[in-house]
Amino acid sequence: MIQLLPDHIANQIAAGEVVQRPASALKELLENAVDAGATAIAIVLADAGRTLLQVVDNGCGMNGADARMAFERHATSKIRRLDDLNAITTFGFRGEALASIAAVADVTVKTRRREDELGVQLIISASEVTAQEPAACSAGTSIAVRNLFFNVPARRKFLKSDSVELKNLVTEMQRVALCHPEVSFTMQHNGANLYSLPAANLRQRIVALMGKDINQRLITVQVDTSVVRIKGFIGKPEGAKRTASEQFFFVNNRFFKSAYFQKAIFNAYQQLLPEKAFPAFFIYFELPPDRIDVNIHPAKIEVKFAEEQIIFQMLHAAVREALGKFAIAPSIDFDTEGAPAIPAVSKNTPATLPFTRLDPSFNPFDEETVPGRTPGRSPSTPLKGWEKLYAGLSHSKQFDALPEEKIPEQLSAGNFAAGRSICLLKGKYILTPVKSGCLIIDCRRAQQRILYERFLQNLTHPLQETQQEIFPQTVTLSPVDYALLESVLDDLTQTGYDIRPFGNNTVVVNGQPASFPAMDAPQLLEELLHTLHENAADLKTQRREKLALSLAKAAAGTSGEPPNMLEAQALVDNLFACKEPALSPEGKPTLQIIAMEEIDKRFLK
Ligand code: ADP
Ligand code: MG
Repeated sequence: MIQLLPDHIANQIAAGEVVQRPASALKELLENAVDAGATAIAIVLADAGRTLLQVVDNGCGMNGADARMAFERHATSKIRRLDDLNAITTFGFRGEALASIAAVADVTVKTRRREDELGVQLIISASEVTAQEPAACSAGTSIAVRNLFFNVPARRKFLKSDSVELKNLVTEMQRVALCHPEVSFTMQHNGANLYSLPAANLRQRIVALMGKDINQRLITVQVDTSVVRIKGFIGKPEGAKRTASEQFFFVNNRFFKSAYFQKAIFNAYQQLLPEKAFPAFFIYFELPPDRIDVNIHPAKIEVKFAEEQIIFQMLHAAVREALGKFAIAPSIDFDTEGAPAIPAVSKNTPATLPFTRLDPSFNPFDEETVPGRTPGRSPSTPLKGWEKLYAGLSHSKQFDALPEEKIPEQLSAGNFAAGRSICLLKGKYILTPVKSGCLIIDCRRAQQRILYERFLQNLTHPLQETQQEIFPQTVTLSPVDYALLESVLDDLTQTGYDIRPFGNNTVVVNGQPASFPAMDAPQLLEELLHTLHENAADLKTQRREKLALSLAKAAAGTSGEPPNMLEAQALVDNLFACKEPALSPEGKPTLQIIAMEEIDKRFLK
């Protein structure tokens, strides 16, 4: 028996494709507002969009009949014939977004066309229109989505922590806001103002979204050919982040993802970037709509280009040229209207020494990566040495005095009879003979384990001495990062950090724990927040563990130079003084043993 699915079920199924999380609903609502010609858009959120997700625009509005139609599946004002599909310039065109959202939430729409005196209010719940009445409202449209996924428990459970979902919401907003600097945006969450972006030019918009610091890091990219026009900005190599949070591609003012084009940019930077660094880019392609296909992905996030390879080459060349120009003549930028690049500092704040993240030891002609070079190391941060890292730890437990229960199965104290001759491999691994073969320790992971146990200790038994900075650094964060950091500030103080809110999403790093090597403040916070975000879901239940993990990863990630022999020795000693020497705080092995038999086997031939 074949039956047609009732509409509300079909809508719910479609919703699964279009609306995966609050952020995808926000994307659709924002795109509709932009399509409606809005010049001002307000976003109001509660509980990361779970309880409320509202978009208010001052666009063209709808009459009562259209407002009702808009929630039918395949209802769109943007496409009439198949031919239209090839000439799409608006964001939406499938006509399924509103129907999908209304299938899985309680939706209230208020809308009025400028030419009408009275607007209309519609209430829809799980695809069912429950009320429609005239309403006095301002010109434009307001769509409030409440209790998203109230009737799809599986989807609701699938949602991440508020902090992750909020981050996704911010990302969606950024993608739209970066296409429309001429439109003003505001974003509120649980009553707090997260963003308020006035109408601006593109550069000002990028700065308003990403923070003032980015202004000096932007290099203009521009190329005009018969195939494509490419414009936008790339970031200077030394400002590269450790996540892709500042990487954006747009085509005809639509955000898209492309690992392929990303590669074109990476290749252009070639050796200019440290390992695992992500340069910023805001790249806008413009080309005739019939040369791309945006219809291949349900969320319209992938785009197919007819001249993909040619555009790859052009992008690559454009980025290289821009980098080259910058290298010869660092641009002086006067386009800072309304967005001072220098953070406003009060009179009593001590001056901060200017610092640069260029690495003078870096030789671009050196084919091999410099041994042990850690990403983004700033040589201007005084290296206080690995010794300091381990100074506080007990040195009494030597190899030959290892307590049995702390040693992984394959190892036993007796194994170390061969003595303590150790060998450093490329600053990354420590090799030492053991009875059963060769023991290899991963320096970075070992370091994380040691730091993790120490931070954890500090969180449980506070009283850490703080080393005050001579030149405190201010760091401006995104509102989301700022909120997350604020929630752990007290704990950080316990571990010896002196970090204080400075207003306007800015913090001052006044001091760091005396017993650890001091880190470059912006980098410390970036690494710390990165791991905190990844672990935000567990922050409530395993607060100390997750914070210690984040700190350990941040500290291990920035401690610069590879160890020398003495430090390597201390590292090994301290690793085996840990409670769990064999595992990194994330549960990855810190050490491996290559068995004698395995080595013997290699010499059989
Ligand atoms: P699509 O955007 O693909 O057409 P949607 O389901 O997102 O499909 O929207 C359906 C229709 O509702 C749109 O084509 C548009 O005519 C109307 N609409 C939606 N949002 C707005 C808005 N904010 N202002 C004016 N009209 C809107
Ligand atoms: Mg739409």
